[in-house]
Amino acid sequence: AMVTRVGPSPTGMMHIGTLYVGLLSERFAQQSGGVFFLRVEDTDKKREVEGATDFISNAFEHYGVVVNEGRDVQGVEHGAYGPYTQSARMSLYQTYVRHLMSEGKAYPCFCSPEELDELRTRQQLRSVAPGYYGDWAIWRHKSLEEALEALKAGKPYVIRFRSPGNPAEKVAVTDLIFGERTFPESDQDIVIMKSDRLPTYHLAHAVDDHLMRTTHVIRGDEWLASLPTHLQLFQALGWTPPTYAHIAPINKLDGSSKRKLSKRKDPEASVIYFMDHGYPTAALIEYLLNLANSNFEDWRKENPTADYRSFPLSFERLAKSNGPLFDFTKLDNISRDIVARLSAEEVYAQIVEWATTHDAPFAAVLEAEKAYAIAILSIERGGPNARKDIAKWQDAKALMAPFFDTEFTSTTEDALSVLGNRTAEEVREIVSDFLGVYDETDSKEAWFDKVKTIARDRGFAEKAGDYKRNPELYKGTVADVAKIFRVLLLGQPQTPDLHEVMAAMGRDRVIKRLTRV
Ligand code: GLU
Repeated sequence: AMVTRVGPSPTGMMHIGTLYVGLLSERFAQQSGGVFFLRVEDTDKKREVEGATDFISNAFEHYGVVVNEGRDVQGVEHGAYGPYTQSARMSLYQTYVRHLMSEGKAYPCFCSPEELDELRTRQQLRSVAPGYYGDWAIWRHKSLEEALEALKAGKPYVIRFRSPGNPAEKVAVTDLIFGERTFPESDQDIVIMKSDRLPTYHLAHAVDDHLMRTTHVIRGDEWLASLPTHLQLFQALGWTPPTYAHIAPINKLDGSSKRKLSKRKDPEASVIYFMDHGYPTAALIEYLLNLANSNFEDWRKENPTADYRSFPLSFERLAKSNGPLFDFTKLDNISRDIVARLSAEEVYAQIVEWATTHDAPFAAVLEAEKAYAIAILSIERGGPNARKDIAKWQDAKALMAPFFDTEFTSTTEDALSVLGNRTAEEVREIVSDFLGVYDETDSKEAWFDKVKTIARDRGFAEKAGDYKRNPELYKGTVADVAKIFRVLLLGQPQTPDLHEVMAAMGRDRVIKRLTRV
């Protein structure tokens, strides 16, 4: 069984990459009957954003990513390996730093920022690798007495790891996605504890992943280059490292080049974007699974009603290339398919849930007219020819709003201007013909026969072909007659199936709207 985790830093809006890594980690753990935990990596107190931690817990719950251990939405911690918030683990990091120092595997460094700048300049002049290492690592070679003296003088210091690496040697690392990679050994004496006594990521994640018995670390591939150092740290602490899987970040096309989704430049880099636009949670989740394993789509086709949790996610199929591209067309298509599979009642419930937090007035309309809302959502729902016109709840609002009298704003002038080539007189004649024969219990066939008869009697062609051959003989086609009804009923020339629209609206509303010209 795998123990996996996600370690977001609450330094801003939750990145879509955090949901992606969390989802994959949770799926792998669940598939193996293991545990997935959430660890809040809040050691950068200067960059911490108020509310970010709560947002992350809520978002995982909202998207159905089940956190077995860690902080829940109420802020309560679960699990026997906590605390799961790094700021509450300071004494642990300090203990391991002291332990490394006592074994001579770490040392204090009193170099000031100016001295480090100067070091960098000298390294540049000599064209050697930058950093704190080997002979350049001044405090690596100082005695205990010198360190004590600096300490007494009150000089600020950091703690550095005494790297055992020799860059002339090669080290092979195995990654579940990148396979075997060979790196020069690292000789960098990295900082493991900052001058404010807070650990760096390098130390904190090693201590935590060990103590929290993590078996598989799934994280962004920006950490791959640090892996040789991380493995040295595990060894120095006497621990077996977890298995690593470094995943490529989600990219986007910027002009003709690919780059990582950036929270600064791309609104879709933030999870909140998908919440605000009302993407169904399942749509975003299935889209991310599809980014991770491209066979997800085929699996979905073969298992149209299965829970996505039964999809066998695999490490082998995770792209080791430079990262999948975020593609809204694909997301929307996946989403339309998902929404099309839901019942009108389910769609209604999800729209209300979304509108309650994002569009309260619309939520009120939906709740006041629940039966009507479900009737609207039932139009052309189900069956092989079901409409797929809802990708997000914002689309659903745009589709539904004109059905409600409180939202319907199209005036007679608007209607006539949309119709363009029809006079008010012609519109009135057709409407009055229709009202003369309107029977709301008509079948679709009976209803359509009546519309065709009106069209014929008023000089419209029943078939588009007839009209095309002899346009001078007709005022238009039966589709133009239907368009009059569409515009009067819903304010737009294109609508779902007109017979179903009238059935959902009901007699009173149909008559009221048709007679407004
Ligand atoms: N806090 C780290 C980050 O946000 C976590 C990386 C990891 O999963 O180890 O990049």
